[in-house]
Amino acid sequence: MNSNITTNLPLTIAKFGGTSVADYDAMMRCANIIKNDTSNRLVVVSASAGVTNHLVRLGQSDVSLAEQADIISQIKAIQLNITQHFSADIERALNTEIESLLEALSVLALAQSKQYNLQHSDAILSFGEQLSSRIFAQVLRVADVAGEYFNVQEVMKTNSLFGKAVVDVAQLRELCQSELAPKLVNKVIVTQGFIGQDAQGNTTTLGRGGSDYSAALLAEALSGTNLAIWTDVVGIFTTDPRITDQARSIAEISFGEAAEMATFGAKILHPATLIPAMRCNIPVFVGSSKEPEKGGTQIKKKVDSNPTYRSIALRREQTLVTVKSPAMLHASGFLANVFAILAKHELSVDLITTSEISVALTFDNPVGSTQSQITSAVVEELEQLCEVSVEHGLSLVAVIGNGLTRAKGIGQSIFDTLNDINVRLICHGASANNLCFLVNEADANTTVEKLHKALFA
Ligand code: ADP
Ligand code: ASP
Ligand code: MG
Repeated sequence: MNSNITTNLPLTIAKFGGTSVADYDAMMRCANIIKNDTSNRLVVVSASAGVTNHLVRLGQSDVSLAEQADIISQIKAIQLNITQHFSADIERALNTEIESLLEALSVLALAQSKQYNLQHSDAILSFGEQLSSRIFAQVLRVADVAGEYFNVQEVMKTNSLFGKAVVDVAQLRELCQSELAPKLVNKVIVTQGFIGQDAQGNTTTLGRGGSDYSAALLAEALSGTNLAIWTDVVGIFTTDPRITDQARSIAEISFGEAAEMATFGAKILHPATLIPAMRCNIPVFVGSSKEPEKGGTQIKKKVDSNPTYRSIALRREQTLVTVKSPAMLHASGFLANVFAILAKHELSVDLITTSEISVALTFDNPVGSTQSQITSAVVEELEQLCEVSVEHGLSLVAVIGNGLTRAKGIGQSIFDTLNDINVRLICHGASANNLCFLVNEADANTTVEKLHKALFA
């Protein structure tokens, strides 16, 4: 087995998602997972289920004082429901810490309601992980594991792009080696996913669902031997098991395939999670903290089988922008102008199709964002060049697999099944690993169910 460069011992970075740290019993199951494998020496936790959603609301501009108080008391209830299981002394000490964090949170919420800014928003969002990591370190100690809290902001330095901050990977590696690695020798360190700190000392966040990515970055920085993502399902499935009960867990999947799934909306992994793992060839395990004995999915560089169809991913709330101009006919430079506008607004395009005088482009709506990325300012600028139409209420379906551009009959297998569904746009050919198309939001689940039946039955 590989070993990490600092301690010469195998090092697994274990990440537990929101449902895994939702209550005391769930946290205790995670503690047992840590206890049963001594290579688990760094634990990365998400906020307890529901807490980040409360914090998103708390950080908005239109929250009344009464609502602020109500949200904070709901968060408090979630956390005290866990600490009540500790002995009286521990409960008291931990509750004092929780109270003072919540006090700081209410000061921030008040400041935010007086003058909204993104900086406050991120500071507010960070409280879920700050709370759960303190509580989980204590749960470990109750389970007889030498758990110790560590503030990830000491090492996770980012730029100041609040809400989707970019991590300084070189600095993370340096700081992990000097500040974190020595602590891993005889302790199990518990730290926060999702949050970081900019050069001015402000709290930043990496985007919703970002704890997976934090854990992968830490695994890379510490030259970890394994990354384990513990969640509420027994691995990565052929499609979201919430859409069809026919979905089944995949035993082994390549980095590339899993990265495509994450990119195209499989919520099981944050889209960037596999980037650090691939850079350093760190195998990733995905399993259920509720049923660890059932195993899960191994994600690695090379796998034994490369089936034509591996999975179906679904991403909701997509925006389709069609730009049309007769000037495009036999002309050059039109697309460059369109893309210059999109780049200026920092918009990233997903799918593109073109015809003689029009181009259709799709855009994601990042999870948790309340408004479309295609603002009126973007539309107005595009309208200087061409006619613009914007459609919402669409879902992107991605069929993920291997050799999709080489295999015969792909189109027939996929679209014959969907003959009663309005397929709005199709993208195929750029990658051998996916075929993507848009359908109306109302048809999304049926589309996935039908396709799954046809391709995976
Ligand atoms: P966590 O809080 O542990 O990070 P998430 O809710 O972010 O958990 O991700 C787990 C969920 O991802 C599952 O409950 C499942 O509904 C959803 N999901 C979407 N696509 C897939 C897939 N292909 N395989 C497994 N789960 C998926
Ligand atoms: N707590 C954050 C969220 O809900 C990050 C995470 O869970 O990964 O988005
Ligand atoms: Mg998640």
